[in-house]
Amino acid sequence: MQNSKSLSGLKTNRTYGYIKSEKALLSWLVNNILRRKGWARHPTKMLFTQNARTRAPIGNNGRSVFAIQCEHCKDFFREKDVQVNHKDNCIKNGINWDELEGIIRRMFDVTFEDLEHLCKSCHDLVTFTERYGGTIENAVLMKKVIKFGKLKAKEQKEKLVKAGIEPAKTEPLRLKQVEDYLNAKAKSRPSK
Ligand SMILES: [Zn+2]
Repeated sequence: MQNSKSLSGLKTNRTYGYIKSEKALLSWLVNNILRRKGWARHPTKMLFTQNARTRAPIGNNGRSVFAIQCEHCKDFFREKDVQVNHKDNCIKNGINWDELEGIIRRMFDVTFEDLEHLCKSCHDLVTFTERYGGTIENAVLMKKVIKFGKLKAKEQKEKLVKAGIEPAKTEPLRLKQVEDYLNAKAKSRPSK
């Protein structure tokens, strides 16, 4: 299905080589050109990481190696396992030609204050909450529910039985059971 009216307002049925739509072309532009070719080598970003480099005992046998602290979980990681996150989400209103300038400015016109180092797990959670709303704690919980949803029905039932829960017959109900179970578990845990 091809939309006859393009995002730029021109009537077109064009495809872009192996990219099948204008929407996909714009995603390619943002992900491959802006993120991978541009942001990955941004001077501010590179200096930000260079300044944050410290030493922590996370090498083999607790050896002290170069490390970066995740600003969310506060653990130390090797540099390759840490990503620089824009505190302000770069893509606010979707990706279209009119939004590109805003996306480029938010991505590239940054100072150290706009950035933070996150480990991959924390970065995933932050992205998840940016996309779907809610708190980080809730995102952690929902990620577990999603992971549970990827198990086969038999495995889901086994896990529920292990937790002392009579498994529901349908998957949506089982997902709800897990969500309720994890919620209750989170509440019963004494806060730090
Ligand atoms: Zn982290």
